[in-house]
Amino acid sequence: MAGLGMGSRACAFVTQSRSEHDSFSRHRLSHQLHDMRYTTDVLIAGAGLAGSCAALHLRMAGREVMVVEAEEPAAGSAAGLVNPFMGRKAKPVPYLHEAVNAFEETLKIASAEHLFFGDGVWRPAMSESQAITYRRRAKQHPDQLTWLPHDDARDRFAPALTSFGGLWVRRGGAISVPSFIRALLDAAHVEVRPNTLVSRWDEDKNHVAVTLNDGTRLHARHLILALGYGGVDHPALSDLELYGVKGQVIRVETPVDLASLPPLAGSGYVVPDGDTLVIGSTYEHNFTVLDPTGDATEQILEKAGTLLPSLTEPTVVEAATGVRTYARGSSEPVARPLSGSQRIWAFTGLGSKGLLMAPLFARRLCKRLTGETPA
Ligand SMILES: Cc1cc2nc3c(=O)[nH]c(=O)nc-3n(C[C@H](O)[C@H](O)[C@H](O)COP(=O)(O)OP(=O)(O)OC[C@H]3O[C@@H](n4cnc5c(N)ncnc54)[C@H](O)[C@@H]3O)c2cc1C
Repeated sequence: MAGLGMGSRACAFVTQSRSEHDSFSRHRLSHQLHDMRYTTDVLIAGAGLAGSCAALHLRMAGREVMVVEAEEPAAGSAAGLVNPFMGRKAKPVPYLHEAVNAFEETLKIASAEHLFFGDGVWRPAMSESQAITYRRRAKQHPDQLTWLPHDDARDRFAPALTSFGGLWVRRGGAISVPSFIRALLDAAHVEVRPNTLVSRWDEDKNHVAVTLNDGTRLHARHLILALGYGGVDHPALSDLELYGVKGQVIRVETPVDLASLPPLAGSGYVVPDGDTLVIGSTYEHNFTVLDPTGDATEQILEKAGTLLPSLTEPTVVEAATGVRTYARGSSEPVARPLSGSQRIWAFTGLGSKGLLMAPLFARRLCKRLTGETPA
């Protein structure tokens, strides 16, 4: 799957052994592997947001972790908007406070605060009726949202749309997803094997034997399948009823008059990233190819024009696609053992809220897997 920032990780193989720099001192490894038949305690397949957040939280809990990634870490990552109030009605994400706290705490643990442009997200109302909804939302969540009427909004956010006023989402922002994932894996001090697929596995009472595409066999106490779209057609995950929704984003050069813009979210979104703007996104439920298309680029620019009326004919420097993975019939991610299994877990279904859901559900998965929370 293509994705913005793909390939930005230059190194081919990351091996970080425990060294004097290892922030996790040995005595915290409460689950040292006394039995050397195990290659690692927990093997994670997939180094996207799910796999890398799980890796960090499990390491924090003292587990040995290894990550195997089919491409490069962050192969399937996306635009980087951290927006706790989503959609036309600015509905809060599930577990709002917990999710925002988990994201901020995970940033801190990974020493990645500097990567987060966390001064907020501007959600301009697109109509009078949306302004009414937004004002109501601001009253419901005064700790997170500020309603700004037109004049105040214009002073702060022009040349973005301000005619109907809008919501200032104070605990939102933007982050480069590949950089975040790199920071998570670095802080976790785990071995990551890129360009390697988990092909099959066999489970018995005490362990999971995992076969990689190069024929290597690894042995672990637990296997976590954090495969993103790679899990959608996998027979072992069929009872989760996963499905994918393709999305395209584009990157354009930032026009001079928009240089100090905050992240914007409306019918689409605009996320500043260095001297470019990442603009998204499409939602394609039926797709046969993953390549970006010109039609999708036009659609994205049209939506962006409603948020940023002065953005006319920007220079497009990149178009990229990814696939959001959802579990049918659920608005929440999946982070639990496969049915009938104690040792093989699925961590997937993050949908369009990967940045806010991955840290929270990684923490929950970790607590449950390590026995802190009853299964
Ligand atoms: C266009 C677009 C824009 C988005 N924008 C945002 C946004 O602004 N903010 C936000 O919060 N979310 C956003 N999302 C959603 C977010 O990207 C996802 O929720 C998140 O990336 C899912 O993470 P994941 O780890 O579950 O899956 P992925 O990121 O897909 O990671 C899965 C990894 O597993 C690897 N893999 C697959 N099969 C195997 C195998 N057999 N063995 C080993 N490795 C394997 C893959 O190569 C991949 O690296 C966007 C999504 C799209 C498509």
